[in-house]
Amino acid sequence: MSINIADSIRNYELGIGNDNDANLIPNSSFHIPNCNKPELLAPAGNFEKLQAALIYGADAVYFGGKNFSLRAYGDNFTHEEILQAVEFTHGLGKKIYAAVNVFAHNTDLDALTDYLKFLDAAQVDAVLVSDLGVLSLAKETNLKIHVSTQANVTNFQAAKFFQALGASRIVLARELTREEILDIKQNCSAELEIFIHGAMCISYSGRCWLSKFLTGRDANRGACTHSCRWKYNLVEETRAGEFFPVGEDERGSYVMNSKDLCLLPCLDKVIESGVASLKIEGRMKSVNYVAGVVKVYRAAIDSYFDGDFKIRDEWLDELNKIAHRPYTTGFFLDDGNPTEIYSTSKPARSSEFLGIVCDFDASTMTATIEQRGKFEINQRVEFFQPREKTFSQTITSMHDADGSEILSAPHAQQIVKISVVKPVEIWSLMRS
Ligand code: SF4
Repeated sequence: MSINIADSIRNYELGIGNDNDANLIPNSSFHIPNCNKPELLAPAGNFEKLQAALIYGADAVYFGGKNFSLRAYGDNFTHEEILQAVEFTHGLGKKIYAAVNVFAHNTDLDALTDYLKFLDAAQVDAVLVSDLGVLSLAKETNLKIHVSTQANVTNFQAAKFFQALGASRIVLARELTREEILDIKQNCSAELEIFIHGAMCISYSGRCWLSKFLTGRDANRGACTHSCRWKYNLVEETRAGEFFPVGEDERGSYVMNSKDLCLLPCLDKVIESGVASLKIEGRMKSVNYVAGVVKVYRAAIDSYFDGDFKIRDEWLDELNKIAHRPYTTGFFLDDGNPTEIYSTSKPARSSEFLGIVCDFDASTMTATIEQRGKFEINQRVEFFQPREKTFSQTITSMHDADGSEILSAPHAQQIVKISVVKPVEIWSLMRS
């Protein structure tokens, strides 16, 4: 038996077998004076991550096609998948944006023209561009234009200039303080979008030549090798193989290794800055990352507009469970705290993603899991749910898709049925 997760989710969204679905799309009608509820915008590295982002509470998603977005090594979307993604997203009343933020070369232009026409016909809600040539081509379509952070907009004059060129939204550079963002907001009527969570470049996004210089892979064409996070030593040219440390301690030196951005601790100030959209970085990250980060920020934004905002331990626990480097508030608070990590470039995490719940039978209290990581009988696991609270249990019985009893689930995407101690929502993530 094989279970199609997309169909499961679609049924779920349409309310088949679930009484609570009216609550899925957050109530956005409540406003506090002078402060509109911002959009929560999440990365969609592939169709599964797009589903996770929307089901766990994002208002909008952004994706890249097979070409012309700055994630050349991500899964990215075929034309057919883009059509499917637009239908799915619009079916939930949410928005979908296409990243077309490469710096184009002459040889790209014909294919870019065709691609933009396709996105227009597919009815994506906007395209993210950074190259002025791409912006001019997008203007020949009906597409809304968002200026990508790759364009490095750091002042209101630049924002107004892009607005005059036809952009309806500006994604500001990450390197801005709160005061600078407020100043741009006061002086430019275009929508503003800022990053609130995820990995950062050590250079201004889009102005880095490190990867291209060291490996030939161009960050400005979506092929960054993250060379800034490598471990560096000094070599004298006649002493090949002798590495001289340039760091402060025995673990080496990661002089260009940035922490990950996390604006949760100051989300109230972020919201009060009046920006229209709050963006999560991570098209290359896992479905577990997307679901976890989106659920936390969804809850935090909603709690602010419910008049009940305070940082909750469960949010911090969740952000610490997913793979991440030490967190920083970056430039937003302008508090002088270091944004680099000198000890290691490896991200840490405290939970393993084991599978997705694609069906639940309340009569037998059985969850059907599509496997993503190895798990076995007697293992302690937790279920991270789109809306309900996380719960833990021990796996006491496991059966394969044919109903045969099994002791472990070692095969990729194997369908496994396990007994659960509580009702579990479809699209819950099972984790260790
Ligand atoms: S090498 Fe580092 S700083 Fe440069 S583009 Fe890649 S991630 Fe950004």
